[in-house]
Amino acid sequence: MMIVWVVFLIIICILLYLLQKLTFAGSVTAFIIGGATVVGVGPAGLLLFAVFFGSSILLGKVKGAAVDEEVVEKHGKRDAFQVFANGGYAGLCSVLLVFFPSLATILVAGFVGSLAAAIADTWASEIGKLSQDKPIDVLTRKKVEKGVSGGVTGLGMAAAFAGSFVLAGVAILIWWNETSVSYLWLFFFIFVGFVANLLDSILGSTVQGLYQCPNCGIHTEKLHHCVKTVKIRGFSFVTNDVVNLCCTGAGALMGMIGAVIFF
Ligand SMILES: [Zn+2]
Repeated sequence: MMIVWVVFLIIICILLYLLQKLTFAGSVTAFIIGGATVVGVGPAGLLLFAVFFGSSILLGKVKGAAVDEEVVEKHGKRDAFQVFANGGYAGLCSVLLVFFPSLATILVAGFVGSLAAAIADTWASEIGKLSQDKPIDVLTRKKVEKGVSGGVTGLGMAAAFAGSFVLAGVAILIWWNETSVSYLWLFFFIFVGFVANLLDSILGSTVQGLYQCPNCGIHTEKLHHCVKTVKIRGFSFVTNDVVNLCCTGAGALMGMIGAVIFF
């Protein structure tokens, strides 16, 4: 059966490359993470990736939800780092499961927790952009430009909640449907996704590099706008991808710690 899944994954990754959803390196990374998932947590784990990635692509098409090209550094095709920032920890938990099958509950919880974080963050930013209100900075409460990291809206927070709920719901149906604590798992993963997304905003508001264009004054993640931009906050090595990596890592960690404490 394994060969069937490998061929299936190759076809999906080639399609995503041809449809320009992933760069070449991005699709190779997706194949590796997908392969690790099939071998570790099993082919059902691919369903969670499908929920996350499918919803990200669909939400990216919603009118008005288009990434603000003035502000955000990367948009369009996802590169290898972006793919790893979203799915890397899930792939890692899956690989570890091959070597430590006795830790299955903990590692599957890490797998689900990291993807709950990834989907919460994606839904929050894509749906949050539809908000009528200007976002406010999560810490300073000052109004910020749309698309600038650290900015949150009520709609975005609700979307983070909804995204975690959908992903957690599918995970419960796969792994914890028959257990008496399935509701507990559901609430737990919603909490993990929501908190990880909050952490993403806090890091975005503090350590992530933010730049200003000296010509037009816009706040942006880009190093170049009308002219070369000037850093006004954070560290230049802390890009949006690095913050995402922290967010999904926190999701995986919370998932694993929660599994040890509560289950
Ligand atoms: Zn400018």
